[in-house]
Amino acid sequence: MDARLEAIRDTVLARNPGEAEFHQAVVEVFESLGPVHDRHPEFLEAAILERLCEPERQIIFRVPWTDDQGRVQINRGFRVEFNSALGPYKGGLRFHPSVYLGIVKFLGFEQIFKNALTGMPIGGGKGGSDFDPRGRSDAEVMRFCQSFMTELYRHIGEYTDVPAGDIGVGGREIGYLFGQYKRITNRYESGVLTGKGISWGGSLVRPEATGFGTVIFTEEMLKTRGTSFDGQRVVVSGSGNVAINAVAKAQSLGATVVACSDSSGYIVDEAGIDVGLLRQVKEVERGRLKDYSLRRSGVAYVEAGSVWDVDATVALPCATQNELDGDAAARLVRNGLIAVGEGANMPSTREAVAVFQEAGVLFGPGKAANAGGVATSALEMQQNASRDSWSFEHTEQRLTDIMVGIHHRCASTADEYGEPGNYVLGANIGGFVKVADAMLAQGLI
Ligand code: GLU
Repeated sequence: MDARLEAIRDTVLARNPGEAEFHQAVVEVFESLGPVHDRHPEFLEAAILERLCEPERQIIFRVPWTDDQGRVQINRGFRVEFNSALGPYKGGLRFHPSVYLGIVKFLGFEQIFKNALTGMPIGGGKGGSDFDPRGRSDAEVMRFCQSFMTELYRHIGEYTDVPAGDIGVGGREIGYLFGQYKRITNRYESGVLTGKGISWGGSLVRPEATGFGTVIFTEEMLKTRGTSFDGQRVVVSGSGNVAINAVAKAQSLGATVVACSDSSGYIVDEAGIDVGLLRQVKEVERGRLKDYSLRRSGVAYVEAGSVWDVDATVALPCATQNELDGDAAARLVRNGLIAVGEGANMPSTREAVAVFQEAGVLFGPGKAANAGGVATSALEMQQNASRDSWSFEHTEQRLTDIMVGIHHRCASTADEYGEPGNYVLGANIGGFVKVADAMLAQGLI
């Protein structure tokens, strides 16, 4: 890493002790940015990096609620409003027991660059709670969401901060959150949240967008090597919203997706995953992948081990951060892997990324490859602002154009900086320069 950036990095790490994921995300970006600072000494003079690493505002709050037995439960809520140079803070809410400030900050930090890459007018933010929705009734989830919003509402707004979903937050939760916001404020402010239901201000394609976008981005990478998804053997990790829609899109392009996973195990379905059955089990029944294997012949369910033990030519990690390590990466590479598109945020460890890059595997980092979700959230905001709603075809075309544009921006930036094919460098520099220019223009704030 560039020596000037090393000093800034050391300060950032020391000022944010114990936030391992945030450190990882910062270091990964800094490693790309040396050459930009050679060309743009004004960024150093204006302390752009130091400012970028310090969130504009961080909110931590108590979320009290009662469970179905009438017992009082206490969770912790977060919203980190990281950077508003390009637009209102934008990014999801994650409800998962692993959530703490370091996770929210890593996600919020990545979101700044991701959102910049989309070309849409959105800043970066993220939030969530250590609430575990697993095993909770609808009524419990509703009471939790209402309590969470009772604090959050004063910090958000269509021109201020626009949350959406992430792990553990889908259409159901956004509904409860929106209802409570409307009740407290007495405003039908559609643009305050995205991922809404289609009959009350949501956008078509938003549920599919992250998974679809990841596949579209990966298809663009494959094209640079004269190939495509057609005929590829694909492994997807996870079986949530991003994973399911990645499976659907990859198979629509002619791939066979042979495996996906949940937190208990993974399935191997050599005939290609039945997306209808997967949706039924995971989305309708909120069940486990084991149920999928019991309902379809020729499917193996594996409880121990990792889905990355299954060979693939294309890997789409769509579960969570640091789910694919260096050993798994090396094994996949030995067995014929040619491309990785990250549907999740930072799913590959730093060791894994190094293995992929050294082996010449096409590697699309999450902040580029999974930007279709937040980009379609920005399209939802556009529709809300104009009180309009677009057709599926029109919205999907917009998403496709945005993903092709992000691929182009990453690839051409990597070329410009003398590292063709390095999408990590392209995404980091491409996103950073846009935000840095806007910060310079807006003065010291
Ligand atoms: N949580 C998603 C992400 O990681 C989507 C955020 C949004 O739509 O605002 O980008």
